[in-house]
Amino acid sequence: MPLLTIGSAAYDTLETPFGFRDRSLGGSGVYASFAASFFTESRLIGVVGGDWNPAYTELLRSRGVDLEGLEIRSNEKTTYWSGRYFVDMNRRETLCFEGNAMSGTYIPIVPDSYKNAPYVFLGNGSPVTDMALLDSIAKPKLVVADTMDFYINGMKKELLELLRRIDGLILNDEESIQLTGARGALDAAEKILEMGPKFVVIKRGEYGAMFISSDEIYLTPAYPTRRVVDPTGAGDSFAGALMGSLAESGELTPESAKKALLYATVVASFTVEGFSLERLQTATRADIDARVAEFKRALV
Ligand code: AMP
Repeated sequence: MPLLTIGSAAYDTLETPFGFRDRSLGGSGVYASFAASFFTESRLIGVVGGDWNPAYTELLRSRGVDLEGLEIRSNEKTTYWSGRYFVDMNRRETLCFEGNAMSGTYIPIVPDSYKNAPYVFLGNGSPVTDMALLDSIAKPKLVVADTMDFYINGMKKELLELLRRIDGLILNDEESIQLTGARGALDAAEKILEMGPKFVVIKRGEYGAMFISSDEIYLTPAYPTRRVVDPTGAGDSFAGALMGSLAESGELTPESAKKALLYATVVASFTVEGFSLERLQTATRADIDARVAEFKRALV
């Protein structure tokens, strides 16, 4: 079943211990829709400026990502983010974020062909934008959102309103604590379940991820990647693959949720092996399936 993703399409300037990339392709929506395209029909809603590189449109299209919902505002600039990773690549600092065309009040234009989307993923972006999108979607089967510190700190009231309208929330352990004031990730997940979502997925970087609902917890370690080159987009591609896999399964069951967690973990492991989308671009579904099989053999 098709998956509709909304999120940023951005230029990222990246600095890691392994190198530097200036204005490479990035953005939460780009990583997530690309990752989802391994599993299902993937559609992206977002906005870029007149400085958008058409080669990036081609790159995403060649992967089968439907870009009818990517608006180009010729008199504005594309979202820009730059970040620097420390030697311990679990830590990074944002050097600059310019929302530009995708400001906090950006209202998406939703093509008619997207309005019956059964699966909806709200990638990192403003909760105001996300709610405007949900207003245009007829009757989605599953709506899942991602969020980050930028929106937890800056748009908390709107984020809490959004939480009442979604089925699942994906976030990392630090963000879960920021959002709830809880002492640990499990405690935070329980508090988030009281805020609206029926399930929470907590990403724990190199320690893996947990899927938590009121009666189930599923856990996975991270895939043991030997060479992390650039962690940017790991979380977004994790979420895109998770949603793509759930959309491919067509229903949310314990089996489909566990399978989606494994695929999410493995796709994220490909993302971090190169800058931007460089490694993910060369991966095939067969490579992903082979790595999932290898990962399963390693699990006790
Ligand atoms: P991740 O490494 O998974 O946290 O995602 C990093 C990606 O998110 C980069 O490609 C950025 O362009 C994008 N990004 C960073 N800050 C924001 C923001 N405030 N809103 C939307 N996207 C962002």
